[in-house]
Amino acid sequence: MTTDPAIPYLDAALPIEQRVEDLLDRMTLPEKVGQMLQLDARGDLKEIVLSRGAGSILHASPEAMIDAIALTQRTRLRIPLLTADDAIHGHSFWPGATILPTQLGMACTWDPALLERAARATAIEVAATGLHWTFSPVLCIARDLRWGRVDETFGEDPHLIGELGAAMIRGYQGDGLDDPTAVLACAKHFAGYSQTQGGRDASEADLSRRALRSWFLPPFERAAREGCRTFMLGYQAIDGVPVTANRWLLDDVLRGEWGFTGTLVTDWDNVGRMVWEQKVCEDDVAAAAVAVDSGNHLVMTTPQFYEGALQAVAEGRLREHQIDDAVRRILRLKFELGLFENPRAPDAARQTQVIGCSSHAELNLEVARRSLVLLRNDGVLPLAGSTEDQAPKRVAVVGPNADDPHAQLGDWAGASGQVPWMPEGHPRHLVETVLDGLRATAPEGWQISYARGAEIGTLVPDPEGTTFPDGQPRPPIFSPASPDAGLIAEALDAARAADVVVAVLGDTVALTGEGKSTATLELQGGQVALLDALVETGTPVVLVLVHSKPSVLPASASRASAIVEAFNPGMRGGRAVADLLLGITEPSGRLPVSVPLHVGQQPVHYNQVRGQHGARYADLAQEPMFVFGEGLTYTTIEYRDLRLSAEEIPSTGEVTATVTLTNTGTRPALETVQVYLSDVITSATWAEQELKGFRQALVEPGASVDVPITISAADCTIVDVDGHRVVEPGQFEVRVGPNSRRSEHLVASFVITPTVGATLE
Ligand code: BGC
Repeated sequence: MTTDPAIPYLDAALPIEQRVEDLLDRMTLPEKVGQMLQLDARGDLKEIVLSRGAGSILHASPEAMIDAIALTQRTRLRIPLLTADDAIHGHSFWPGATILPTQLGMACTWDPALLERAARATAIEVAATGLHWTFSPVLCIARDLRWGRVDETFGEDPHLIGELGAAMIRGYQGDGLDDPTAVLACAKHFAGYSQTQGGRDASEADLSRRALRSWFLPPFERAAREGCRTFMLGYQAIDGVPVTANRWLLDDVLRGEWGFTGTLVTDWDNVGRMVWEQKVCEDDVAAAAVAVDSGNHLVMTTPQFYEGALQAVAEGRLREHQIDDAVRRILRLKFELGLFENPRAPDAARQTQVIGCSSHAELNLEVARRSLVLLRNDGVLPLAGSTEDQAPKRVAVVGPNADDPHAQLGDWAGASGQVPWMPEGHPRHLVETVLDGLRATAPEGWQISYARGAEIGTLVPDPEGTTFPDGQPRPPIFSPASPDAGLIAEALDAARAADVVVAVLGDTVALTGEGKSTATLELQGGQVALLDALVETGTPVVLVLVHSKPSVLPASASRASAIVEAFNPGMRGGRAVADLLLGITEPSGRLPVSVPLHVGQQPVHYNQVRGQHGARYADLAQEPMFVFGEGLTYTTIEYRDLRLSAEEIPSTGEVTATVTLTNTGTRPALETVQVYLSDVITSATWAEQELKGFRQALVEPGASVDVPITISAADCTIVDVDGHRVVEPGQFEVRVGPNSRRSEHLVASFVITPTVGATLE
C-alpha cells in the first residue's frame, strides 16, 4: 500500500486527474517513455522493471508476477505495473484455471447473457492472480477459413460478434474498475486483421474504407460504446498503411467519430515490424515517432522503442507533450484500478477459493453443452433417448481427438505454445475428453470401447531453419501422419463389435494459431482413411468434430448417421458431448460461421454482396455444406404466422416481427429464432440479407410460443458510396427462420418512410 497525503499523486483522496498531473510533473522523459513499454515478462525482470521502467508486462509466470510487482517498489516513483495476458477463453496460462470453449465455440451458444457470465468467471480467476487486463475479446470477422485464428473469433457476422463481444466486455469489466474482480477488456485486433490474403496471417488487408465501415468496424464501434477500456491494433497494413500508423482509423474514426477515450496497445512488436518486416520506417527512431504521432499509447514488446522515442524527442521529431498524452492514459488506468493503493498482487488464499472452483466448472459445462451444434441426425441420436429401446449399447469411441486434452482445449490454453511454464498443459484430470465423458455418463450395462484409429500429425522444424534472416524465430511446420493400417484395423475391430461408432476427428493445435494458417481445410493425417473404413463396416457412425474451425469433410462423411460440431469445447467439452449423444441434454447450438463443402468456396460467408453472375461454380455449388445459423434439435419446430407490428414506419421508428413456433416433436428445444433483413433497393450494392436480431425461446413438446423480435429502423442501414451509414427509405423484407437459408424463411415486408435527419453520421 503506497499512500502519502504529503505527495499529491500518492493521496488517494485527491481526484484522479490531479494525481495524474502531479505524477507526470515529477517524471523524467525516460521514465515517461518507460511507462509506454509493455514488455515480455519472460525476459530479465530487473532489466524490464528497473532499467527500462516498463509501465506494463505480459506473459508473466505465476512466480514472475510476484517478483515483478515486488521490483516496482525499488523504482524511484514506485509506479505500479499494469499486468496483462491472453485470458481469452478462461485464464489460459494458469494451471488448473477454468478453460472454456474457444470464442468460436462460445459463439455457437448465441447467448450473450451466458457469455457475460463466462467472462465474469474468467475475470474473477484472473484478478486473483495479479492480472489486471485480458486481451479479449477478439472482434475480427471470420472470412477466409484458412486463417489460423478463426477459433479466436465469434464467427462471420458483425451483429452477432457485436452482441457477444459487448457481453464479454461487460463480464470482464464488471461493475467498474474499482471492483477488485474487474479486469480490463481489450477489443482486438482493430481493425480488418482477418481480411487476410489466402488466409495468410497478418498479410496486407485489401480493404476499402467503405468495406471497413460496412462489416469490420461495427463490432468495434459496439465495443467502444459498451465502454471497453482498451483496444489492441492489428498486425496488418491496409492500403499501404500499418494500422499502428493509421491516423484515419485511430484519430478520425475511433477517437473522433466514436469518442473513444480509452487506451490503445499495439500488437506484438508492431512498432519494430514497421522497420524490419513492413519496411515503412528506416529505423527505430522513425518508427517510434510514427507510433507516438499516430496516437498509440502502450507499445507491446518493442524494447528498442525506448531508445527510439528518446532519440526522436532529442531530434525534434516528437514533442514531449505527445509522450505525455500517452502516459496520461496509462497512469489514469492505474489510478482508476487503484493500483497505487493496492497493486492487486496475486492472492494465494483467493486463488484457492476461485480458480477452477465448482461453480465455474458448472458454468463451464453449461457453456460447453450450449456450444455444441448438431448438424445431421438420421435418428441415431440420442443414443439413450427412446423409451422403446432401452437395451444396453456397445459404443466404439474412435479417433485421434476422442481422448486428446490439448485438441479439446485448443489454442491459448496451457501447452498451446505461447508460454514455457506449462509444457504438459492443464492438469489432465480436469479435462474431460469425449472418452472420459462417455465412460462417466453411459448408463449401467453399456460397453464403451476405445481405439485411436489414426494420427493427425506433428510439428517439425521448418527445413529453412529455426530463425528468419533477421533472427526472429521461424515457426515449425505441420507434418501430416500417414494412415496407419494397424490403428485402422484396431478401430474396425471395435466398430464391428459395437452398435454405434462415435468417431471423434478434427485438428490439433499444430494446425491452429498465429503462423499456422492452413492451405486446405481437409481432415489431416490418417483421419480420412479411418472414416472411409468406418462407414464401410455398416455400424452407424456418429461423427464428432473436435477442431478449431470448420473442416471440409470427405465424401464418406455423407454416410455418417449424425454429425456434431464441437469447436474446441473446453475442459468440460467431452462430458458435454457425451451428455448430448446420450440425450441427457438437448442440442441447441447454432453455427456462427458457414461450413464450406470445399476450400475453394472461400469466402463463403452468408452475407455476400449481391450482383454476381449466377450462384454457383461450373464444377461446384456455391452453397456451403452447412449455413450460418444452422443447428438441429432432437425435435421439430414449425415456424408459422410471421406478422409485423407495422407496414410503414418512419426512420426513427421500430417494427416488431412476431412468429409462432410449435414443437411438433416429443422433446423440448431451445430454439434460436433469427431475423434477417433485406433492403430491397439500395443506392450502392449491399448484402442480400443481414442478421439484425435473434432470440432464444424454450418450446416444450406440443407447445406453441409467440416470439417477438423488435428491429429499430436506425439499424436498417447501409453504407453509401460516400462512406456514410444511412437509412435509405423504401421497402425492406424481414426474413425469419431457424438459420440463414432463405428457403426456410418466412417473409414479410415493411416500408421506411423518409424523415428529415435520416443520416446517422
Ligand atoms: C497476438 C495478440 C496477443 C498478443 C499477446 C499477439 O501475437 O496477435 O492477439 O494478444 O500476441 O500475446
